[in-house]
Amino acid sequence: MAQDLTELHAFVTGGSRGIGEAIVRRLAADGARVTFTYNASEPAATALVTSVAEAGGVATAVKVDSADQDALRAAIRDSAAANGRLDILVNNAGVGVFAPIETLTAEDYDRVVGINLGAVFHASQEALGLMKSGGRIINIGSVNAERNPLPGASIYALSKAGVAGFTGALAREVSARGITVNTVQPGPVATELNPAVGPFADLLNPHIAAGRYGEVEEVAALVAYLSGPEAAYITGASINIDGGFTA
Ligand code: NDP
Repeated sequence: MAQDLTELHAFVTGGSRGIGEAIVRRLAADGARVTFTYNASEPAATALVTSVAEAGGVATAVKVDSADQDALRAAIRDSAAANGRLDILVNNAGVGVFAPIETLTAEDYDRVVGINLGAVFHASQEALGLMKSGGRIINIGSVNAERNPLPGASIYALSKAGVAGFTGALAREVSARGITVNTVQPGPVATELNPAVGPFADLLNPHIAAGRYGEVEEVAALVAYLSGPEAAYITGASINIDGGFTA
């Protein structure tokens, strides 16, 4: 069901591909003006801006590495100034390094934690200086915050569990301002990060009660719901959308 996001401005990190791209399309289709970031995928970002416009929406792409907190903060400020407001922040950009702990490096740790967790903190802090009552912060976490049936997910799980903890604590702080903070925790969703066909999928599939990977549009629909006025009483939640992966 479409949410009425008309007049609202949303900022989405990592919108060029995968789940983020679907979120950009969905929020724009529901009426929001969307600013999204990309890092490496400029052609995809440009194509998405055009595609959203052809569908009657408004999306703007900005190149920002989420590991660069100053650039991320500046992009949020600039987009809010350009649109006269900031209503919705979706912290989606994420990376994964899956390997045995003895082979992981300090660089792996800094990269994954910096993008998956650090950027969530920095973007949220910056956005909260700009948001008014009705504001929404929606993080894309992962079911790996709470369940890891396969080895090698230590850094990724650490980063996503941090997001879940941050979500509850921050929701407590800003609830009196009429701002909600939630995390959407997908299970396996078909993207370049986690292709639905291949050796990794063969290992994951037996753990999915629904018997299939999720679609990016299914995650985007939940994000749209949390963005709208009907979700005002949901805050501090980490909501699994995982086909029963955690059941
Ligand atoms: P993809 O790899 O398909 O897409 C990742 C997106 O994040 C791209 O738009 C990419 O942009 C962007 N991104 C990556 N690094 C950076 C960076 N340093 N700065 C800015 N943007 C960046 O991943 P998914 O769509 O699968 O994942 C999206 C989110 O969902 C992540 O947080 C992931 O952890 C989470 N998730 C995914 C699951 C899955 O099964 N797919 C399951 C659970 C959670 P660009 O290419 O331009 O760099």
